[in-house]
Amino acid sequence: MKHHLRWRIALPYVVLILIILAGLTVYVSNTVRNTRVEDMEQGYAEEVHAFATLIDNEIADGDMQALSVSVDEWAELFSVRVTVIGMDGAVLAESDYEPSEMENHLSRPEVIDAIELGEGSSSRFSPTLQENMLYLAAPVVHQGVTLAIARVAVSLEQVELEVTRLRSTIFLATLVAMAAALLVAVLVADRVTVPVSKLDRAAHRMAEGDLSSRYYGSSRDEVGRLGETFNLMASRLQIEVARLSTEQGRLSAILNHMADGVISISNEGRVRRLNAAGERILAITEKEAMGRSFARVLRHHELIELVQRGMETEAEQEAIVSSALHGFYLRAIYTPLGDDDIESGFVILQDLTMVRSAEQVRRDFVSNASHELRTPLASLKALVETLRDGALEDPPAAQHFLDMIEDQVDSLTQMVRELLELSRIESSQVPLDPAKTTAADIIVPPVERLMPQAERAGISLRIVLSDDLPEAEVDSQRLHQVITNLVHNAIKFTEPGGHITVSAQVVASELVISVQDTGVGIAEEDLPRIFERFYKADRSRTGGGTGLGLAICKHIVQQHGGHIWVESIMGIGSTFSFAVPLRHDPNQATAMA
Ligand code: ADP
Repeated sequence: MKHHLRWRIALPYVVLILIILAGLTVYVSNTVRNTRVEDMEQGYAEEVHAFATLIDNEIADGDMQALSVSVDEWAELFSVRVTVIGMDGAVLAESDYEPSEMENHLSRPEVIDAIELGEGSSSRFSPTLQENMLYLAAPVVHQGVTLAIARVAVSLEQVELEVTRLRSTIFLATLVAMAAALLVAVLVADRVTVPVSKLDRAAHRMAEGDLSSRYYGSSRDEVGRLGETFNLMASRLQIEVARLSTEQGRLSAILNHMADGVISISNEGRVRRLNAAGERILAITEKEAMGRSFARVLRHHELIELVQRGMETEAEQEAIVSSALHGFYLRAIYTPLGDDDIESGFVILQDLTMVRSAEQVRRDFVSNASHELRTPLASLKALVETLRDGALEDPPAAQHFLDMIEDQVDSLTQMVRELLELSRIESSQVPLDPAKTTAADIIVPPVERLMPQAERAGISLRIVLSDDLPEAEVDSQRLHQVITNLVHNAIKFTEPGGHITVSAQVVASELVISVQDTGVGIAEEDLPRIFERFYKADRSRTGGGTGLGLAICKHIVQQHGGHIWVESIMGIGSTFSFAVPLRHDPNQATAMA
């Protein structure tokens, strides 16, 4: 570019100088030549007149011999060619050639002029002599009668030589001037092109992505001002790009932390963005989804139709979409982006699966609670009616019925207590009181309390603990409750002669406590629901349980920031385990389901 511009500036000057010098050369050499020829014309004009007056007698006498001698003498004396032409154009005498061999000369311009005007001159190329010649002619007058035309011819070779020499001098001067002009033009051009190429390099760096690229120049001319404007533009661009990338980063962070899936779709119907929630819901990574058609990413006909409708109508669309295959239950909203050139719009996917399952849990809870309450209330009603119908008259029977009524009231009270307990834990009304406790202090007291019950049921209950277990920062009272519930269940669901083992170990900075029994086990289909409120795996064997114990356990463990799980094989036994972090972190408590 630099060279290009340099030569574009320099060349016109050089060409201009060349044209001027060429014109000057032609003009000067022509002028010099003409002046010289004119001078010669004047000099030789007098000479030809003198010669004409000299030979009139010889022609009048017809003395061709004498004429020829005069011609030769004259020619030799003045180093010219002399010709005498008769009025009929025939050459009468000639100094350099044989007159009889020469053609008729009447048509020569100088001859015509001499006859008509009394004098004639002409300069032209002589085919006879093969050079430029100057011809001058004058009439030979004898007693008032024109007898012939005398003509003198001189070579213009000398003049031509001078003109040629002059031309080569000028040509040389032209060359020197050209070189000087070229140098000056290039220097001048460089003064302009160097800052321009600096600016060009700066702009090039910027085009390649280096936004810190600047123009450093001192010139105060247009290029300098252009450079300043460029720098100003670059700074603005840098600030703007930084602002946009911060904005973009913020937007990305927001998008990726959103619970709702967001898919942005281009005007050609291709996926341009997919946030983390969207990846989870649609089970596809952003990388895989990028650039694909939205239909291949959404893979659900209702979602695809929703987007198609939205793109066609350019109006917001909303639908509740559920898919057993994809395992989602969603509210999908398509929002068009109006006159955006790149993006057509975006789809928001609100995962309602949790909402729906919470709804389901609430409905189940109400129906389970009513069911659990209805059974003891119905027996109470029956017992009271039996008493009223006459059992009161029979004191031993009345006593028996009253005992049964008390049992039912106790079990109702227990259920209400557990429900209250659960609701208090769930609403975090009972704050934890963590303190450093050994594994033995967590496990031994509740197990010992249940030892007599195990013995009565004919079950061996033992604790397996190693000495090197570290202390854990837990609320031991609450964990006693968990262990009591688990061991109590193990006793309830284990046949006499069975074994229950309570053990503890540390796995990845968590204290893991397990209650293993050789009881009836839990069917595989019940395992995922066992920790739900009121859930009883085998209603015929619950032994009057409320179905709330494991739900309470789960909540207490979660309050500690831990988790609880079960492994079980029907007929072999079950192992309930829970893990709590060794160090208590109030922020770690998992959200309670
Ligand atoms: P419940 O008060 O009925 O024991 P839980 O929430 O403690 O309520 O237990 C829920 C259900 O889980 C029980 O009804 C039972 O079906 C099953 N279950 C709990 N522990 C055991 C166990 N150790 N062995 C077999 N089944 C168990």
